[in-house]
Amino acid sequence: MSHQAFVRGVVGMPISPIIKPMPMTKPLTKFEKLKKGHAVLFPKFFTIECGEGWIELIDHLCEHFEHKLISKEANFIRFAQIKEKFGLLRVYFDLELPTPRKGIDPEKTFIQLHQTVSVIEEMSSIVCEDCGQMKHEGFNVEMRSISGWKMTRCDECYKKERQKRMGI
Ligand SMILES: [Zn+2]
Repeated sequence: MSHQAFVRGVVGMPISPIIKPMPMTKPLTKFEKLKKGHAVLFPKFFTIECGEGWIELIDHLCEHFEHKLISKEANFIRFAQIKEKFGLLRVYFDLELPTPRKGIDPEKTFIQLHQTVSVIEEMSSIVCEDCGQMKHEGFNVEMRSISGWKMTRCDECYKKERQKRMGI
């Protein structure tokens, strides 16, 4: 009992326990952790609009982008949008390149960045957007379609998705 509560009790005031609201300590989602770890690459309010299964692909891009910033091959790189579109990962980013100088070739950096994004986007066609497992021998991941919605899923996650959306 705090001193104040005691005094109030003595003078006959009703004592209501002072309960401090617990701080909201909702655990960070995987994407929130990723954004925190690469804060320089994300606008303040940014939503990654795809399933968590693709987090490793996005993380790989973050590493590549940050490397370009650290090596001063780029002045500024920031994600504009990360989303699922037509069943695949799509990434858009803003970029500012330095002026060409010794050892710095902005044109090369531009091509490398866009190529890396293309490779990652293409890889999303063999990584389950839900569970994150990559296609390998004996484990199928492919583009599916449920009532016109395209999605990349492994067999198991596709079954679950179909159950959720269509009840079959
Ligand atoms: Zn899966």
